[in-house]
Amino acid sequence: MTVPVEFFGAASVYEQCPAGQKPEVALAGRSNVGKSSLLNALAKRKKLAAVSKTPGRTRTINFYLVKNSYFLVDLPGYGYARVPGELKTNWSRLVEDYLHNRKQLRGILHLVDIRLTPGELDRQLAEWLRFSGLPAAVVATKADKISRGEGQRQLALIKEALRLPADVPLIRFSAVTGEGKKELWQIIEKWVN
Ligand code: GDP
Repeated sequence: MTVPVEFFGAASVYEQCPAGQKPEVALAGRSNVGKSSLLNALAKRKKLAAVSKTPGRTRTINFYLVKNSYFLVDLPGYGYARVPGELKTNWSRLVEDYLHNRKQLRGILHLVDIRLTPGELDRQLAEWLRFSGLPAAVVATKADKISRGEGQRQLALIKEALRLPADVPLIRFSAVTGEGKKELWQIIEKWVN
């Protein structure tokens, strides 16, 4: 399945987010979790989103227009250590403003690395999602990096650590093998339609 996805624009303050009423699905997760790689894999493009070797470089909210009808929204990664205090505050302020104000937001894809135990910020996001009532799915990235059996154990651990409600999908994903892509598109399309 090839779905047309194009970069639309970036916002460094909430007011710069696109005007209009197109529905949006946002991607959140700690930096280096594989957000850019996932976007590129979904779009079948190598350089749609920059895959960075420097964690925490993306400081804007990036908007990707899909089929000219809805946006995939790349939120800045969290969990970066070497960011000066002021910038850090600004950064999370942008995400908070977005999450609290965005009426066209239809759902959140929460990315976690399948090999890692979710961190404090992951647990906070999961908790916020539980209380917000917003549709959510957890995407366990880099699934190609561990065995199937180990993956099963990690998924159980992630589910418990994030206290995921039974109705929140937990999807194995790999930007390398394409595993999980079809399922992700189905979820995204369900939310925006
Ligand atoms: P971001 O900071 O969340 O945008 O993460 P990136 O997409 O830049 O990925 C961080 C690192 O993980 C890069 O070195 C990627 O090549 C690697 N990576 C991301 N997704 C995968 C995956 O599915 N499989 C493997 N093996 N590596 C991945």
